[in-house]
Amino acid sequence: MTTDYIIIGAGSAGCVLANRLSENSKHNVLMLEAGGENDSFLVNTPAAFAAFMFLDTYNWKYNAEKVTDIRSDTPLFVPRGKGLGGSSSTNAMLYIRGQAEDYDTWAGLGCDGWSYNDILPYFKRSESNERGSSEFHGDSGPLHVSDRPVLYPISETFITAAKEVGYHYTDDFNGAAQEGVGYYQCTIKDGQRCSAARAYLYPAMGRKNLQIKTKALVKRIVFEGSKATGVEFEQHGKLHIAKANKEVILSAGAIGSPQILMLSGIGDKTHLESLGINCVHHLAGVGENLQEHADACILVTSKKKDGFCASPLGLLKMAPELFNYFSSKTGKLANSMLEAGAFLKTSPDLDRPDIQLHMLPLLYDDSGRDLRLMGQHGYSCHVCVLRPESKGTVKLQTSDYKTAPLIDFNFFSDEHGKDRQVIVAGLRVLRKILAAAAFDDYRVEEMHPGINAMSDDELFAKAKERLGIVYHPVGTCKMGTDDLAVVNPQLQVHGVKNLRVIDASVMPTLISGNTNAPTIALAEKAADIMLDQSSN
Ligand SMILES: Cc1cc2nc3c(=O)[nH]c(=O)nc-3n(C[C@H](O)[C@H](O)[C@H](O)COP(=O)(O)OP(=O)(O)OC[C@H]3O[C@@H](n4cnc5c(N)ncnc54)[C@H](O)[C@@H]3O)c2cc1C
Repeated sequence: MTTDYIIIGAGSAGCVLANRLSENSKHNVLMLEAGGENDSFLVNTPAAFAAFMFLDTYNWKYNAEKVTDIRSDTPLFVPRGKGLGGSSSTNAMLYIRGQAEDYDTWAGLGCDGWSYNDILPYFKRSESNERGSSEFHGDSGPLHVSDRPVLYPISETFITAAKEVGYHYTDDFNGAAQEGVGYYQCTIKDGQRCSAARAYLYPAMGRKNLQIKTKALVKRIVFEGSKATGVEFEQHGKLHIAKANKEVILSAGAIGSPQILMLSGIGDKTHLESLGINCVHHLAGVGENLQEHADACILVTSKKKDGFCASPLGLLKMAPELFNYFSSKTGKLANSMLEAGAFLKTSPDLDRPDIQLHMLPLLYDDSGRDLRLMGQHGYSCHVCVLRPESKGTVKLQTSDYKTAPLIDFNFFSDEHGKDRQVIVAGLRVLRKILAAAAFDDYRVEEMHPGINAMSDDELFAKAKERLGIVYHPVGTCKMGTDDLAVVNPQLQVHGVKNLRVIDASVMPTLISGNTNAPTIALAEKAADIMLDQSSN
């Protein structure tokens, strides 16, 4: 098996690369994906999102390291998408880009060519926004972005309440300024999920120069000296080696990419040698710099019963939705339940939002795995720290490629306690909105944190009790030029040849928002960099 490019991982970034690199018939591309085809009813149906949390077929279902005072000693659940589309096939489909300053920060950290002005054309190129093209939006890219009908009245109540307490409405979180409260646009087309696979991979699948292998679990990258020459992978119980004439591209995501690098001998020498792995090249930053959005919630029981409830009666009430969906791809199954949200500042002195809110028409906690909670009528609003300063790690447990890596978010470890301060202030902002008169017809009782949690210490303790993540790990193979950088601004791995990492793991800092669209834009830009270099 010999080809020009091998792409490891068919996630948000991998699908973009497979399409763009194989556009030119001169390039032969092989894509290796551990999961399956993912062309199923569950993946395509937007509201089936929470079901993925339970299913090994679509989800790596990692658990982070236990931290005693977080989630009462149970490990934080870390879902990651598996199969064609990767996490874009299991995500909540919110279309968000972050803030211009996020990318300017990258450029300021030595990532030349990655400022907002540099990446904006790639957001536009990737996007087909139903609203049409503008200074900020594209209307003819592969990724379909749509406005959704508002089907849960509580979403509108949330917007009214936020306005009542002084926050302004925005009709575009991805326009000139992110700040405000509003409705999310989603990567949904004709009532079906528009994953990166649907947007980029399916249209390219017929190309003779693109070969896609599913159920192909990558074991390691093969090196000759310091040059990456191929990939060893397991498919149907057998090990195979594929050779790459030009480059190996690692797009296995922020957990998978550092894991594969380390298994291949690229990483901190001491760590690798402690596991008996021969160090091909010492790169101390592999698996360091893990950043994620720490997420706290307020759960409120409701008088009105117009939200989603996973009780037997609530599920029965959803039956007509099945008919709507099968007959016309409309209704609640054609939507993400996350209809409304906000990007706000916890203090007027700030120059840009530092928290994001996700409003849900149900009692939602622990990634939807708390079924008893969801069986009651209520609503929840989640708040996350947009630019966390705490940094964690992804490390190997063993040298066995089938063993999950160790994920340690190290939340709230930042030296000055800023993350703690933002989450507590965020909960206060959220409480203010949920206490507005607009919610009077809904509110029964704040179940969590509960009215007894009033001081900063009490709120922080409660936040940790039910702490969650927004599923946005980044940074573990960061781009840059400092000692902990893993790739350079062309996304080539420092110190070795013919190897790039292209996925969310290269983001040096977490962007202020959801990470699918940024990963896709990043991969679009990376494809241009690669194609430019290959033509010179
Ligand atoms: C539950 C959930 C909800 C989310 N909701 C949103 C949202 O609403 N909006 C948003 O913008 N973002 C959301 N995100 C985040 C977003 O989807 C991700 O940031 C983005 O998809 C990451 O893209 P990636 O290419 O870096 O990795 P991924 O898309 O995760 O792709 C990595 C791929 O590599 C494969 N892989 C890994 N290891 C191996 C191996 N050893 N061998 C072969 N293949 C391998 C994986 O199976 C996977 O297909 C969500 C994520 C999750 C998990």
